[in-house]
Amino acid sequence: MVHEYEAIVVGAGGAGLYAALEASRTVKTAVLSKLYPMRSHTGAAQGGISAALGNLEEDSPDWHAFDTVKGGDYLTDQSSAILLAEDAVRAVLDLENRGLPFNRTPEGRIDQRRFGGHTSNYGEEAVRRSCYAADRTGHMILQTLYQQCIKNEVSFFDEFHVLDVIIEGRICAGVIAIELATGEVHLFKSQAVLFATGGFGRMFRVTSNAYANTGDGPAVLARRGVPLQDMEFFQFHPTGIRGMGILITEGVRGEGGILRNSEGKRFMEDYTPTLLDLAPRDIVARSIISEIRAGRGIRGDGSVDDYVHLDATHLGKDVIEAKLPDIAEFCRTYQGIDPSEKPIPVMPTAHYAMGGIPTDLDGRVIADEEGGVYEGLYAAGECACVSVHGANRLGTNSLVDLVVYGRRAGISMTAYVKGAPAAPVPKDSDAAVRQFIDSLKAGKPHLRGEGIRGEMESSMTEKVGIYRNRSDMQRVIDKISELRDRINRVGVQYSGDRFNTDLTEAIELRNLLDLALITVQAAHNREESRGAHSREDFPERDDVNWLKHSLIWLDETRVQKGFRPVDITKWQPKPRKY
Ligand SMILES: Cc1cc2nc3c(=O)[nH]c(=O)nc-3n(C[C@H](O)[C@H](O)[C@H](O)COP(=O)(O)OP(=O)(O)OC[C@H]3O[C@@H](n4cnc5c(N)ncnc54)[C@H](O)[C@@H]3O)c2cc1C
Repeated sequence: MVHEYEAIVVGAGGAGLYAALEASRTVKTAVLSKLYPMRSHTGAAQGGISAALGNLEEDSPDWHAFDTVKGGDYLTDQSSAILLAEDAVRAVLDLENRGLPFNRTPEGRIDQRRFGGHTSNYGEEAVRRSCYAADRTGHMILQTLYQQCIKNEVSFFDEFHVLDVIIEGRICAGVIAIELATGEVHLFKSQAVLFATGGFGRMFRVTSNAYANTGDGPAVLARRGVPLQDMEFFQFHPTGIRGMGILITEGVRGEGGILRNSEGKRFMEDYTPTLLDLAPRDIVARSIISEIRAGRGIRGDGSVDDYVHLDATHLGKDVIEAKLPDIAEFCRTYQGIDPSEKPIPVMPTAHYAMGGIPTDLDGRVIADEEGGVYEGLYAAGECACVSVHGANRLGTNSLVDLVVYGRRAGISMTAYVKGAPAAPVPKDSDAAVRQFIDSLKAGKPHLRGEGIRGEMESSMTEKVGIYRNRSDMQRVIDKISELRDRINRVGVQYSGDRFNTDLTEAIELRNLLDLALITVQAAHNREESRGAHSREDFPERDDVNWLKHSLIWLDETRVQKGFRPVDITKWQPKPRKY
């Protein structure tokens, strides 16, 4: 079946919905989502959305921008961080006006809490900058935006899984999707396409990410020749539930929670004496691993099963139930403990992709080292890299990235559509997808995907995690290459058309494998330690040789590398101290 729209948005998380809201004001807009929109991972965001409102204490967008640059270990493009911080204030008030039920101060203003790396006066002390709706901030954002999209009569294609994009030269003309309920292949023609498909933490075994976070957008584009940027930078959140990875929001520490080792000591005093438990995530995650390696993990035998405690017992039941109700519920359900009575056993968990599809400040996808762009192709949200998070994202800066840059991409798509002629769609644009589906259904049924998935997750978690080194990563490159070869021979057991989850899982696994290869190659290439990328064999940051963005092109079985300059317009790089 063939459809025609002026603007197509792939993804119904915060970034996609905000872009659709803008675009649908003036152009015919459709949102395609493999999930029912409310199940997008934005709905799982707990802790908050940052904006220098200064409702409880003095704050300024300039401090916010500086923290974002320093938190990103100076790989952040500074114009991008300045724009984010300035527009964050408008964006949060806009969400409030659209009906988002933020927590309030007694005077009725939006309440704010502390989060890692957010400070007053360029690093002096932790500041209350994160606006929140209990520990369900993302859920509230998603509800608010979805209702507004329905009001604007955006066309939703729920449970449509995008498999390919139509790009001729540098012009985008649409996407190909499979309708999950029927198995039918649909062609969507459009002058402008935005990818907002979210993260890809599912390449790791222990992750906070939902099952659907398989990086389909970046993988589809990479296979069509689009480079991916800064893929070596993957964030490990310090506090996942031990062994499971389910997130315990940084908001627990924002409200006063403390990390303790097996001796009961508040060990962050030894690493970041000013910000303590509210240092940026890369530093806190490494500090946890250092404590465990020094034998001060709980159970203290140096094995991988060691963990640390997140102690919130002193906050009291009332504060926990009022401000962190979901966290309290998770602790009861998964650990059988009440966090107001016992400390929570935690370990770092794979959480957030700083890298992704490179874009300019208007969401236009970048094609080369010189910053040339594709026409009609956009990206926003976690799958994109507008380079606002650099080498390490600060907590609560993703939700604001979605609404600031999602909105900008929506506006810029609309302007482009109005001036652009309809791009020609080549005949048989969907032939490759049909062939691919047929080959999966005709593959040898005894070769299944699960083994491949397990091997990918284990090698990425064990060897491309918080600490990395060359020989381990070389092994992972060899392993992922072998797995990519094997996935080509996988066949699905069920060859029917209706809700063929066997088929979609195989497709998602192929996407994850492509991104795993790009990630490990980028990490192997960068011979320094910066932000979330810590090389045991190159422990120092190296601004002389490595203060640059990496680009990776996927070329069938190999990758090609390139670089782009970092925008350093305001703050010169300094060593990071907290
Ligand atoms: C547990 C958790 C807690 C978090 N807490 C916070 C927080 O408190 N503050 C903060 O700032 N950040 C937080 N983050 C990060 C933040 O929530 C995410 O980075 C952000 O929500 C991503 O939004 P998105 O719009 O880019 O994508 P998502 O919300 O992940 O949505 C992706 C969309 O793309 C669609 N899609 C994907 N692939 C396809 C395909 N092939 N075809 C069609 N559709 C497709 C999906 O259906 C979905 O609608 C948290 C993340 C997690 C995992």
